[in-house]
Amino acid sequence: MKYFEFQELFICECHDTSHQFIISADPLTVEFPEVYVSIHLNRDHNIFRRMWTAMKYVFGMRSTLGDFDEVIIKPEDADRLQGVVDYLRKAKEKQEQDNKAKIEAVQSDK
Ligand SMILES: [Zn+2]
Repeated sequence: MKYFEFQELFICECHDTSHQFIISADPLTVEFPEVYVSIHLNRDHNIFRRMWTAMKYVFGMRSTLGDFDEVIIKPEDADRLQGVVDYLRKAKEKQEQDNKAKIEAVQSDK
């Protein structure tokens, strides 16, 4: 049994490998397909910056822009992203067919 139905690594167009995310689907969830996006979180190795961040958190100080970072998706990643969308669309269509079949089965029992 394969561990992932699929697993795709996307690295930012800026080539910084700390800007990356992985999209994967667990084959165990084929009945109820789920796609996971795993995002690499930057870790600050400077102890004083971590303490400063902790102090800001304790006192409720927040960045006006939020604590976001970004990954620039490259045009050449379009086909792999489309593969994820196709997987989800196929799963959605199967769920809709299954639901329709269940409704028809219940209605035919009446
Ligand atoms: Zn980047």
